[in-house]
Amino acid sequence: MIQKIQFHDTLKGGIKKFEPLNPKEITLYTCGPTVYNYAHIGNFRTFVFEDLLRRFLEYKGFHVKHVMNITDVDDKTIAGANREKKSLSAYTEFYTEAFLEDMKTLNMLSPEIQPRATDSIDDIVALIRTLIEKEIAYLAEDGSVYYRVAKFPGYGKLSKKKLDGNISGARVDVDEYDKEQGADFVLWKKAKEDEPSWDSPWGKGRPGWHIECSAMCMRHLGETIDIHAGGEDLVFPHHENEIAQSEAATGKPFVKYWLHAKHLLVNGEKMSKSKGNFFTLRDLLEKGYDPMAIRYALLSVHYRHQLNFTFESLKEAREVIEKLDNCYFQCISLLHASDKVIQVLKKPAELASAINLESTLKPFYDGIISALENDLNVSAALSLLLAGVSEINRALAGFQIADANLLAAKSFFEKMDQLFGFDISCIEALPNEIISALGKYSEARRSKDFETSDKLRKELGDKGWLVKDGRPGEPSTVKKVRRAWDIKK
Ligand SMILES: [Zn+2]
Repeated sequence: MIQKIQFHDTLKGGIKKFEPLNPKEITLYTCGPTVYNYAHIGNFRTFVFEDLLRRFLEYKGFHVKHVMNITDVDDKTIAGANREKKSLSAYTEFYTEAFLEDMKTLNMLSPEIQPRATDSIDDIVALIRTLIEKEIAYLAEDGSVYYRVAKFPGYGKLSKKKLDGNISGARVDVDEYDKEQGADFVLWKKAKEDEPSWDSPWGKGRPGWHIECSAMCMRHLGETIDIHAGGEDLVFPHHENEIAQSEAATGKPFVKYWLHAKHLLVNGEKMSKSKGNFFTLRDLLEKGYDPMAIRYALLSVHYRHQLNFTFESLKEAREVIEKLDNCYFQCISLLHASDKVIQVLKKPAELASAINLESTLKPFYDGIISALENDLNVSAALSLLLAGVSEINRALAGFQIADANLLAAKSFFEKMDQLFGFDISCIEALPNEIISALGKYSEARRSKDFETSDKLRKELGDKGWLVKDGRPGEPSTVKKVRRAWDIKK
């Protein structure tokens, strides 16, 4: 297979042709959540981009071995557990479960392996031991183990930070990523009172955040991997430190391609609790927004461009999802309908045309793939998807659509779901009993018998079908309630 895929690589700088280590299997590591709270939409912008990356590579025929870690021990998780007077594991398990549920809500594929830092202590200790043997790491008089940055000549190559020679004095024992420090960083923190700790050759303690990812990545994917992805806020120090740790230990390149997603803004500003523009996924669901609209809004801007998230953009995203839903629903309903039923669902034919949807859709389909091959140009890909759907709608409006065309349309939606994960093709076609109830409903409305139509609407709702009234003179339609939030509307 000739690969035309190219990605922007943060390390080499610029767009590079993608050549995986193994032509069939791709190793992908994505930094997972720190489970001290519910994940916010800024986190999910990155996770949804990574989900698209994986879906696209799988679509291209690769097996993607995807590892996403769960950071369940660090300064924040320990502080949270202490605040709530819970054990660290009880505290982090709650937010891990919540995160996994959120991933499902947004229709993200599960990583093949999701290692927890606290289950990886042996690997972490072994890696630190190697670094100490190579004199890259040292046990300091404060009882913690540090990485000696000056001993790794490549330090700064990812973030393009130049470190001055004066770096050996300061030592950083925080592992929060928003602290910009260029000095020696902590690998193993000596146990403090009321903190969970593990045994090690350097006494009781716990791992620093950066070493966790190096250890888990190499443990599950090998010493050199194809793609490491994350948010741009992780470039320094987290990913810089991962490179330093891993490459100093193995003497081999750690990662072939580094992909980073840009920050998300909300209403043009950095998200912050004090500004009142801080939203978790759950906040948006509580406000009644559709997860697929949220997914669309988070996905629809190129990952290296600034995404400005607004409620207006969410509303537009909802309209797009609805357009896709309605088109797909019409296609499968027509595909499964008998002639009599079609009379219920359609206006009479006015145009007759010999359309071959399969060949009409081909250039859209090819364009979508080549847009994604070009560093995941998702905005171009999505506008082609919508243009393809408009072609299908045009064919549907002509009412001379043959089964072959409906099948071509159905397959288009299924492929798009595989790529973008909007879950459109989960909608079901109409069973006969529902068609007949819908016919009676439309008839009752036409004769202004609203008592009967209300009763039928409720009956259909109880069976999981949502009635959508047509415009005057047009028949009503129904849609399968596929998600609980459909009912809220
Ligand atoms: Zn990481």
